[in-house]
Amino acid sequence: MLGANDGILSTASLVLGVAAAHATHSNVMVAGVAGLVAGAMSMAAGEYVSVHSQADTERADLELERAELKTDDEGEHKGLMAIYVARGLDSRLAKQVAEQLMAHDALGAHAQDELGISAAFSARPIQAALASAGSFAVGAALPLVITGMVPQAGLIPFVSGTSLLFLALLRGLAARAGGASVTVGALRVTFWGALAMAVTAGVGALFGTRSAATAAFSANSAPGATEHPARHSTGLRNSSTRRIGPALAVIHGEGAKRCFGQSV
Ligand SMILES: [Zn+2]
Repeated sequence: MLGANDGILSTASLVLGVAAAHATHSNVMVAGVAGLVAGAMSMAAGEYVSVHSQADTERADLELERAELKTDDEGEHKGLMAIYVARGLDSRLAKQVAEQLMAHDALGAHAQDELGISAAFSARPIQAALASAGSFAVGAALPLVITGMVPQAGLIPFVSGTSLLFLALLRGLAARAGGASVTVGALRVTFWGALAMAVTAGVGALFGTRSAATAAFSANSAPGATEHPARHSTGLRNSSTRRIGPALAVIHGEGAKRCFGQSV
């Protein structure tokens, strides 16, 4: 569930950031697909490493416990008994419980009540990695499908709108399953999701405008240069770039025609 959330939010933000930088539709798609794969792999790697090291720690703890049970049976009885007393049993009953549990499965009783390791939750790194990567990929696929379906002009409103909706729905489902308030959970995730997308899109727009302006300047200083971004990008809000636009067209009219002919 958490992985799917991450997948939706990070992929949608990525798509919006690249789209806000005036990338072409296919470039936005490539960035989104790369984001899906990178995110899923990073989730898998992170999960594998963390679960594996947790498994290593558990195994070492169990080894130590096994050795202690062999060398200090009385001390181990007392240790377990103390745990039950701390949890509220009187000492006679605690002693009885410790004795019976240890007669049944000494290592299991210590693992569960002293170390906090239960057999059901014992770590499985591969499964955990696959589950994380899978849920991230499913989440990431949602904004990507939208990105593939809507025209370039509609990318930003559609991807952000549907992704926030997906996030809110997912959170609502999780909250309902957990018995928490559906509205509060959905509102919270919508707020943070919108913030993440707005920041990424803002940074994308900033970099996109800056790199287009830089390209325009270098094209202006080098006659016959192959870049004519000022004529391509109609969405530029930078006034200095706008002023360069017509000048470029006049100075490099011939070159521009040649380049457009080649590039189209
Ligand atoms: Zn012990």
